[in-house]
Amino acid sequence: MIDSRQYSAPPALLADRVILITGASDGIGKAVALSCAAHGATVVLHGRNVKRLEGVYDNILAAGGKRPSIVPLDFEKAGPAEYETLANALEQEFGRLDGLLNNAGMLGERAPIEHHDIPKWLRTMHVNVNAPFILTRYALPLLRKSQGASILFTSSGVVPRPRAYWGAYLPSKWASDGLMRMLADELENDGIRVNSINPGAVRTGMRLQAYPAEDRNKLKTAEQIVAPYLYLLGQDSAGVTGQTIDCQ
Ligand code: NDP
Repeated sequence: MIDSRQYSAPPALLADRVILITGASDGIGKAVALSCAAHGATVVLHGRNVKRLEGVYDNILAAGGKRPSIVPLDFEKAGPAEYETLANALEQEFGRLDGLLNNAGMLGERAPIEHHDIPKWLRTMHVNVNAPFILTRYALPLLRKSQGASILFTSSGVVPRPRAYWGAYLPSKWASDGLMRMLADELENDGIRVNSINPGAVRTGMRLQAYPAEDRNKLKTAEQIVAPYLYLLGQDSAGVTGQTIDCQ
């Protein structure tokens, strides 16, 4: 396997590929969506904030990219039927999916377990673990219709280095990586690869929430860490599965 941090994507890497990106309204998801579109993909932009999603949509068209789709869904509130409706709409519009990036996530509460707010814990686990499970479950029939589909989950430095006061966020990322490994094994002979990406410290709203006092100028921007995402979504990573890849 190559060092995907150094990966230089060919301009047409994702031509004719349809890629669903969750949390595409902001931060890393937005940067990856813009980059996928710049490499030829038709991107399906998921998030909650429709105004921001429309901004990403406009940026893609202004840069000459293929017309994206917007699929707003609040992972905190949506039930299985809404995910099924989303998958049916994608089936109608595209007939298949070539890539799914499970990127949307929330930090939740940074507090000792002894004092952790219970509803906040449940919400964080729901958005970071249950939502990617439900979405992936409904997306799988569409991904099976692609040649060489790629599913990505989003990991974190708290997986290799667990530490105090990360609340539900830490076990949610462990669970997400566990789900990735299990699914990679389940799909081993089906031509669908499944991996996780650990972005490292990136200058986004979530990072600001986690480390409000740090010098943000020292952090990489989301645009600077997209290479491994392109590598794992495109066909150059054929055969790579069950891995967690570090962006930094
Ligand atoms: P941001 O806070 O910048 O963006 C989060 C995205 O997730 C937004 O598009 C947001 O949508 C979406 N989202 C959040 N909650 C929900 C919800 N309930 N329903 C639907 N969408 C939701 O975060 P980052 O870009 O920093 O993080 C992206 C991923 O990377 C996360 O999984 C995070 O855990 C991971 N990560 C980030 C690191 C960093 O340093 N930034 C480090 C390690 C991992 P909207 O704005 O429309 O509500």
